[in-house]
Amino acid sequence: MFQVILKSGKDASVKRFHPWVFSGAIKKIKNEDGRESDPQEGSLVKVTDNKGNYLGAGHYQNGSIMVRILTFKEEEINESFWTGRIQEAYDLRAQLNLTDNEQTNIYRLIHAEGDGLPGLIIDYYAGTAVIQSHSIGMHYAKENIVTALKNVYGESLKAIFDKSADTLPKNGPVQIEDHYIYESEGYSSIGLEHGCQFKIDWEQGQKTGFFIDQRENRALLGSYSKDKKVLNTFCYTGGFSLAALNAGATHVDSVDASARAIDLTDENVALNGFTDKHGSFAIDTFKFFEQNDASKYDIVVLDPPAFAKHQNVKHNAVKGYKRLNATALQVMKPGALLFTFSCSQVVDSKLFYNTIMAAAIQTGRKVRVLHQVTQPADHPINIYHAESHYLKGLVLQVI
Ligand code: SAH
Repeated sequence: MFQVILKSGKDASVKRFHPWVFSGAIKKIKNEDGRESDPQEGSLVKVTDNKGNYLGAGHYQNGSIMVRILTFKEEEINESFWTGRIQEAYDLRAQLNLTDNEQTNIYRLIHAEGDGLPGLIIDYYAGTAVIQSHSIGMHYAKENIVTALKNVYGESLKAIFDKSADTLPKNGPVQIEDHYIYESEGYSSIGLEHGCQFKIDWEQGQKTGFFIDQRENRALLGSYSKDKKVLNTFCYTGGFSLAALNAGATHVDSVDASARAIDLTDENVALNGFTDKHGSFAIDTFKFFEQNDASKYDIVVLDPPAFAKHQNVKHNAVKGYKRLNATALQVMKPGALLFTFSCSQVVDSKLFYNTIMAAAIQTGRKVRVLHQVTQPADHPINIYHAESHYLKGLVLQVI
């Protein structure tokens, strides 16, 4: 195995179980014969400190993050390693009451760094596992991962879909199409979240097909929705819309710029029998606010896509969040609730909070913070890896 030797003093974060080794921390890389050379992208390497002491092992890749650490112990990364890790992740979801739940059979099984497996996402939809590898090493580990999934789930696993075409590095050595790795008779594309049925389109849909990370925030919206009128913008497949309808909302309007997303929302609304209480608008959210009277809603949801994916566009993202939230707060009726979110990793909770405060100041309205929310427990946050905390939300009342 190649050895990645860190510069003196650059080992502190790895010793604290931060799973990334940045290129700037590396002193040199040696092959098995002790000569300096570059490993193949995606191969397993061991990481040592300046003096050669073992720190961990992980996947090597060119770029600013050069090693994604899989283990901090001296152990073999073989089939039993993978089965152990996937079992551990499954056991946590069992502890969270997600694996045998009559109301919910959609959950995240592997949340990358949060589950100690950087570069890997696995979402579980009522018997189907959708795998997304974000690193070349995880792509090469797929056979082991598939065996591990089968070992852990047994017969109850009906299908495995690989949705990595868009998440593997664009110019890397591996280019693949999305495809089924395994399919058995009778898998279903309909899953349940808090008793609502959702058709999950993992083949064509965004990400792995559904935004599982909003499950608890949808339940919170539900708890306020009885007899209320709700506006759900950036609705995608209508998760928030259904949570409100199922909890007794009198009417929900759903808005998304994508006509395909609106079709999926309509389909899910129909699946649950709420078509007569639902309106849908395939339109840009800002245009919707311009053309419609949003003061009739008791609750408004703003759940835009990540406005910033990189540090260098953070400023524009902040402007975007401010403008969006000011637009909504400006027109909402006194007493109404705003559920507002950001899933941009680079906009942390403090910056998001301050941005929403700036939006409130701009409108001159009185605003109170009722809840500060985040991602659910099946999207665990590695405490040493602040980057795994990405979803932030505020529930506000505007007076
Ligand atoms: N709230 C959703 C997830 C939102 S994902 C859920 O609970 O599942 C973000 C969505 O915003 C995508 O469906 C995308 O099509 C939509 N979108 C992006 N820009 C938009 C805009 N300017 N106006 C309306 N929708 C937009």
